[in-house]
Amino acid sequence: MHRAGFCFFCLLSLQIGFAQQVRYDYLLRHARIVDGSGAGWFTGAVAIAGDRIAAVGLLPSHTANAVIDVAGLTLTPGFIDTHSHSRQAIFEVPSAENLIRQGITTLIEGPDGSSPIPLKPFLTKLGATKIGINFGAMAGHGSIRSAVMGSKNRVATAAELEQMRVLMAQAMRDGAFGLSTGLFYVPGNYAPTEEVIELARVAGEMGGIHTSHMRDEAAEILASVRETIRIGEEGKLPTQITHHKVMGGPNWGRSVETLKLVEEARARGVDVTIDQYPYTASSTGIAALMPQWALADGPAAVKERLGAPETRARIKAVIADRIATDRGAGDPKNIQIANCSWDASLAGKTLADITAARGVAVTIDNAADTAMDLVGKGGCSAIYHAINEADVERILRYPHTMIASDGGVIVFGAGVPHPRNYGTFARVLARYVRERKTIPLEEAIRKMTSLPGGRFHIYDRGLLRPGMKADLVVFDPASVRDAAEFGKPHQYAEGFAHVFVNGRPVLKDGKMTGERPGRVLLGPGVGH
Ligand SMILES: [Zn+2]
Repeated sequence: MHRAGFCFFCLLSLQIGFAQQVRYDYLLRHARIVDGSGAGWFTGAVAIAGDRIAAVGLLPSHTANAVIDVAGLTLTPGFIDTHSHSRQAIFEVPSAENLIRQGITTLIEGPDGSSPIPLKPFLTKLGATKIGINFGAMAGHGSIRSAVMGSKNRVATAAELEQMRVLMAQAMRDGAFGLSTGLFYVPGNYAPTEEVIELARVAGEMGGIHTSHMRDEAAEILASVRETIRIGEEGKLPTQITHHKVMGGPNWGRSVETLKLVEEARARGVDVTIDQYPYTASSTGIAALMPQWALADGPAAVKERLGAPETRARIKAVIADRIATDRGAGDPKNIQIANCSWDASLAGKTLADITAARGVAVTIDNAADTAMDLVGKGGCSAIYHAINEADVERILRYPHTMIASDGGVIVFGAGVPHPRNYGTFARVLARYVRERKTIPLEEAIRKMTSLPGGRFHIYDRGLLRPGMKADLVVFDPASVRDAAEFGKPHQYAEGFAHVFVNGRPVLKDGKMTGERPGRVLLGPGVGH
């Protein structure tokens, strides 16, 4: 009688006012509801009709085709992950199981300056694929720059800048939510701030937001925060410091100053926010140890520099310094390989292990040589244990910080990736809400739902209200936890009972249902 997407009796009841007789598709009752707004929990029920929330309240005499008693469990809006690396793996794992199992129902792709350009063919392909999660995308500055001028280490000409503006506007019309930058990475790192501001203006005029993987997250972090704020201020658009962290022992504690800069900017009217993942280790390429000038002009040029003794010595000095004071946090043991496409056996080993295997002493200098060898052979992804938990908690407590994973859809068992891919949202609930009581549950849920939803102009998700899309999560607050560990990451988060996406159950009683009701979400520039 009921077809997905349509609830005849809901419409009927609205028209004739017989709320008592309403029959819904799903009714989740006896829940402890945390509605995403930050308000305190309350007991109640949520009714779903088609792809929307039809009613929230006690709903004592409502019925549904399926009634699910969730007594003792917490019911919240689906989590929105605004920094996700998922555009390859979503086609291999369209269920997005590792994300669904930690409550994520919507993701935003294209972070760190990297996205498909043009965006349209990708979104079309995605739209033709049945996926289990809602999926939106940013336009990457690095990808736009690369399409126009490759990985050249120079300022763009006026004509090149104009080409970039055109590509930016097209990406917004195609459905991007805004401009992401990766000013730490090739080729974004070769762009002056002024270039980014030009593209930010285009994105902002079409309703978009800017997110920044900043130029530096260690010694130069304050300058980087100022630059991110400036892009928002002069680009006239909302700006966001993504995966905010402070890397390297000498810099620990400086989140006091970074948050102060953000507060001062907000006080004068700059719309700046933060997102964060709850770990004391980051993950990116092993090339992140290299000086940026050494990475220009493609792999052949990099290899040539590594082979020229004088240049190699200059590179080595920078890497040694980064192991000592930046992302190595003083010890090659703190750098762990996640995946090398050319040698699977290196996954999980540390830079100390690989240096020792060369038959030399594990010194910072020798580890720098090891790192250069890895880069020369094609590079690897790596995990860097170089963040202090006091900074993590200080940033987490800040009201304008949302949770985002910097992870993404994962092929189960492949490589040794950062556990954030499996555990980010569960870890906040387990470690920082339940165990350390860093923030209350309601605040954590707000940071996962209405804060990112509103920030990215996704106004029909992120709150439990009648009329909103029915993305729901039901979990046990006493047992929810991230099971993924460094070195042993392929373990799903635990404690999640049910997850609904667009009104359909994708996780039911802890089991994947096989349904894939996810949708491609389009940003605010469509139709411009
Ligand atoms: Zn990043």
